[in-house]
Formats: sequence, structure tokens, C-alpha cells
Amino acid sequence: MRWSSFYKNASRVFNNYPSWSKSIVVCTVISGGGLVAYSDAKAENGNQSPKKRVVVLGTGWAGMSFLKSMKSSDYEIHVISPRNYFAFTPLLPSVTCGTVEARSIVEPIRSISRKSGVNILFSEAQCYKIDPKNNKVYCRAVQDKNLGGLEEFSLDYDYLVIAMGARSNTFNTPGVQEHAYFLKEVDDALRIRQKVIDLFEKASLPALPEEEKKKLLSFVIVGGGPTGVEFAAELHDFVHEDLSKLYPSLQKYVKIILLEAGDHILNMFDKRITEFAENKFNRDGIDVKLGSMVVKVSENEISAKDRATGQLVSIPHGMVVWSTGIGARPEMLEFMKQIGQINKRALVTDEWLRLEGHDNIYALGDCATINQRKVMEDIAVIFSKADKDNTGMLDLKEFQQVVDDIIERYPQVEIYLKKNQMKDIHTLLRKSRERSITVDIEYFKEALSNVDSQMKNLPATAQVAAQQGAYLADCFNRMEFCERYPEGPLRFRGVGRHRFRSFRYKHFGQFAPLGGEQTAAQLPGDWISIGHSTQWLWYSVYTSKLVSWRTRALVVADWGRRFIYGRDSNKRRSIILALTPAIEVHNFPDRIIGFHLSILHVTVRLSAGEQPPPALVNGLLVAVAVAVAFRRGHGGRHPDTDQVTHDVSKWLRKLKGVFVCLYRPNRGLCD
Ligand SMILES: Cc1cc2nc3c(=O)[nH]c(=O)nc-3n(C[C@H](O)[C@H](O)[C@H](O)COP(=O)(O)OP(=O)(O)OC[C@H]3O[C@@H](n4cnc5c(N)ncnc54)[C@H](O)[C@@H]3O)c2cc1C
Repeated sequence: MRWSSFYKNASRVFNNYPSWSKSIVVCTVISGGGLVAYSDAKAENGNQSPKKRVVVLGTGWAGMSFLKSMKSSDYEIHVISPRNYFAFTPLLPSVTCGTVEARSIVEPIRSISRKSGVNILFSEAQCYKIDPKNNKVYCRAVQDKNLGGLEEFSLDYDYLVIAMGARSNTFNTPGVQEHAYFLKEVDDALRIRQKVIDLFEKASLPALPEEEKKKLLSFVIVGGGPTGVEFAAELHDFVHEDLSKLYPSLQKYVKIILLEAGDHILNMFDKRITEFAENKFNRDGIDVKLGSMVVKVSENEISAKDRATGQLVSIPHGMVVWSTGIGARPEMLEFMKQIGQINKRALVTDEWLRLEGHDNIYALGDCATINQRKVMEDIAVIFSKADKDNTGMLDLKEFQQVVDDIIERYPQVEIYLKKNQMKDIHTLLRKSRERSITVDIEYFKEALSNVDSQMKNLPATAQVAAQQGAYLADCFNRMEFCERYPEGPLRFRGVGRHRFRSFRYKHFGQFAPLGGEQTAAQLPGDWISIGHSTQWLWYSVYTSKLVSWRTRALVVADWGRRFIYGRDSNKRRSIILALTPAIEVHNFPDRIIGFHLSILHVTVRLSAGEQPPPALVNGLLVAVAVAVAFRRGHGGRHPDTDQVTHDVSKWLRKLKGVFVCLYRPNRGLCD
């Protein structure tokens, strides 16, 4: 109604004033032509300056977060990584004991990049050499090494983002590489899971003597950091809650030993958490040996030196899990030698994550460390920059003009103030009880002399890596804008301002799961929480941190399955691995469908090896069919009841067909 009356009024106006219609036609033609000319000009411009190529090495926390946050289409992004997925490492210890399935914590990198909306190329390869002089990286495919030389390729870059992570550090301890298990990648977690079950099966062979059973079921974990502790707790729960029912006669032989070279486990946590964890492990029967330095690992024995007495102790073992920290990857060590960063733990960058001395190379995550500039290195230039009238004295007004820049450029100042309970930097500079600030260079130096002692390296955690990835992507997204309007702090040693604000890490706290549905958390402000309620906090935080709705649904379903039916002690690949690719192949975008399918996965998994309860499967199939029918046919807008009923039965038939053919016994789904 409204549209027809608008049309009538408009045509009346045009009939009464014919010159208006001519003007509108002329304006339209001119503006249309202008638009065409503008777009042509843009296209030509586009041809003149091709997109800059950003090569990203690695698809871990730093790489994934960078790709996820990239919004600008001004770059051609090429990702190189030996694995085509992102793995949610905090849940790796849960994979070792079947609490969570491996498939549930990985997300294909192509799916992450597709969702970011930016065109990203991916090659499953390993970078083995970086040539910073010629802006080139050299790579080798990981899949097929027999492509007649085509498995190797090189890529030119305008910008290089190194996010290659780190490897487990063995500290060159003899035998570790050959005989210990690591917990760094998904494959490592699966290998551990397989080995634990293997050991239980082997130990239940009837002819085996008691001593041998004891040896086989002696699990030694080296390293009392968060990963080692979490694995020890997971293993303890797995053994006591699940395996004890399957292998009751072997319970008396099981021993879990945790070796830590330091004085306490979890020494990066608050004392209360450390104490709680040590007491809990003691009660649980986990043998925590503090001050034990492992000196050698062999196939059947691990030798450790007691730091206090110097005594050498040999412990027979069935399995050693090594979790003592990280070190630089061999390719990184080679690159560090090449660029003159010798004897460093990781690649050294500035506060903008730029590799020192290389403006177009960035390094982030576990493979990098930030070299925070010291205040004392720049103290004279800071003073002279602030002393605008060159009197050799700084007064309050002069100082106020640079105070924000000092705090922004040297974050250690803020940390120092907080630690010493000073309200602001003026308090630090105020001479004794004097109210006004007028200081000379010597006093200025003295007041700030202790500030640099607050500098600390950032921890090698997912939190740091993810924040760095998002920060760097944000810099790339706003590169052009910030070139014109720099927003960083004042350049004390140069002119103008830095383009970007420097990277600032925000700590959101850390968790230490301790088993038995108990977790310890140290949250910002030194807020400590330990116990069952913290476990629920852990569940909710980790669910929200998972990178997609698909992984969230799968992990929650895995937890639910574990609550009801216990952990999976089956060595065979689970059915979940067979069904999940189906979701990806058909590319169902709807999260509801994903969720329903994940419930279906769980049901099928639970029933692997036996017929699933028909009522349950039918109910789930109906739920999936309804979701698919709504999604495909109606988008949930104006459903026509008959049509929906028809579609539901159509989809039900299809799904049942797929399900029956997948589930048919003897088809080897669980192979
Ligand atoms: C078991 C476990 C539990 C953890 N739990 C937590 C936790 O609860 N909270 C937390 O904050 N942190 C946790 N961490 C630490 C966290 O996982 C790391 O700090 C984080 O993964 C570092 O991210 P990154 O991107 O630097 O490296 P990574 O995530 O290790 O990724 C490195 C990437 O580089 C790729 N790569 C390797 N070599 C090459 C090459 N030659 N060329 C190209 N690509 C290459 C790898 O395939 C990978 O994709 C845990 C780690 C482990 C192992």
C-alpha cells in the first residue's frame, strides 16, 4: 500500500515538473559514469601494485590466532606448516587417557581461514631454511618425499611471520630421545594412550612374573610443570576409575612416579597451590620425588641423581613421559646462527614482535622472546626529549607531556609502580616530601634506576602466543592507516612516533588440573581457587576457548560420555574419526546440525562393538533430520508444517541409509 501511493505521488510530481526528471537522469548518468571511472581507476591501481605476500610459518596458537584475526584483503597470505590443522594443546593430556578424543581438539586450518573471510593459501610442508637477504623461504612437503624434486619449493615474501613453536627440551640427557615419550603434539598423545593400554595388556599375560608386571606398570613422568602434573593426574584417574574395573588383578602393581629436579612441583604457581598439589598427589599415591635430576634413560630403567645427597637411583619403568620444558627447533637454531643470534633460547624480537635487525620478519609464540628495551639505556635521551626548554631541569609540566609515552614504551615502569604501591610515576619522582617536581638528570636516573629489574620474559604459553598472533594481525589490518597516523609512543631516539602501540600481554590466569575433578586456578590479582568448583570453571573456560563450535560440541560430548560411561580404553581408532570427516565433506554450516551429529557420534562411539540401542539412535536421527530439514528447506523462517514433515521423512530416510551402511557390522568402521 505504502509503496503504491509513493509511486503515484512521485509520478505526479514528475508530470507536473518535467525539468526535474531530466535533471535526475543527467545526475544519474554522471554519477554512474563517475562510479565506473572510479572503479576502473581502482582496478588499474590494483594492477599496478600487486598485493604484498605474507608468508606464515606454523599453524599453532600464534599462527592460528594471526590467521583468525586477519581481516585485511590487502595481502596475499601463504601458510606453511607440516600439519594442516590447529590443535588445542591444553586438552592434550586429556587425549592421552581417552577423556577427550583427538579429533575433538583439532580444527582444519583451511576451515579457520575460510571463516576469517580472507583468501589464504596453505601448503602442508616444512620450512627448512630462511634466507632473509633475498626474502625467501625454502620448504619441503611432508607427505610425499618422492615427487621427483617437486616436493621442494621456495617462496618469496614481503613479510615473514615465524610461528614455528618449539620442541621438547631433553637437555641432551642420554637415552631420552630414544626411550622416552613426549607430550607436545596430538600424535604424541595418541602414542601415549596406545602404550598405556599395551602395557596393561602385556602385564596381564599369565606367564609373566610379578617383578616384570611391576616394571611394566611403573609409569615415570619427568618434569613437575603444569603438563607433567596434569598428565600424572589424568593417568592416575584413568587407572583408578576405569582400568581398575577392566584389569582388577593388576591394580596392586601400578605405580606412578613424578620426578622433579626443583624443590617443588608447579613452582610457577602460588605456594598454596603447590602445597595442595603435593599433598593431593601424596594422598592419591602418586610418588613425587623432588630434587631428582634425571641423568640417563634406558629401555627398562631411568637413572636419577638426588640433588641433596648426590646419590644415584635407578627406577625400572614400563614407560617414561618427558615433560621438562622447551627448546628451539633445529631449523630455528640454524636460522639464529645465520642472523647472529647465537646462544639464545629463542628468536629475539623487539616490542613490536619484529625480529631484531629485520624489519619485515616477525616472530611470535614459543619460538620467540621479546627483548624489552631498558629505561636506563635511553635515560639521557628521555630526559633531553622531555626537557623542552633545555634548562637541564625537568618540571612537572614538561614531565607530564612525556609520562604516558614513557609508560607505554617501557611497561616495566608500570609494573614497578604497582609492585611498590605507588600511585603514579610522579610519586616516584617526587623528592622526599616536596610537592613539586623539578629534577635534574642525576636525580632522574636515580629515581628510575631500579625500574628495569622488573623486566621478565613472557612465559611460553598458548595465552601469550594467541595474544601475539591477534596483535600482529591487527597491525597488518591497520598498516596503511597507522603509516599515515602513527599511534605508538614517542620515538625517544628518533623523530615522531612509532606506527603501532607495542605488544602488551594481558594475563588472564592459569589452571592446573589435579585430577579427581579438582583443579587449581591462579587468577589475576593473585586470586587463588582450588577444588571441585574450580574444575567447573576450567570446563567452562576451556570450552569457550576452543576455536570452533564443532570442537566445542565434540569436547562437551566427550566429557559427557566420560561422566556416564568412563574413558575409552579401546586401542582401536574410534568411530568418531570415521564420522567427523563426513561433516567436513558435506560442509554443513549449521552448528545445530554439528551439535546433533556430535551427540550421534557419542552414541555410536559408546556402542562401538555392540548394537546401539535402537530407540536412542532413532531419536537422534529424527533430531538430526529435523535440524537438516529446517536448515536446508526453510532456514527456520516460515515453516510450512506439511512441507517440513515431508522433508523430515526424506532426510530421515537418507540419514538412516548412511547410518546403516556405515554401521553395518563387519564393515570395519572401528579399524
Ligand atoms: C600438553 C600441553 C599442554 C599445554 N597446556 C597449556 C595451557 O593449559 N595453557 C597455556 O597457555 N599453554 C599451554 N601449553 C603451551 C602452549 O601449547 C604453547 O605455548 C603454544 O602451543 C605455543 O604456540 P606456538 O604457536 O608458538 O607453537 P605451537 O602451537 O607449537 O605451533 C607451532 C606450529 O609450527 C609448525 N611447525 C613446526 N616446524 C615447522 C617448520 N619447520 N615449518 C613450518 N611450520 C612448522 C607446527 O606444525 C605447528 O603448527 C601446553 C602445551 C602442551 C604441550
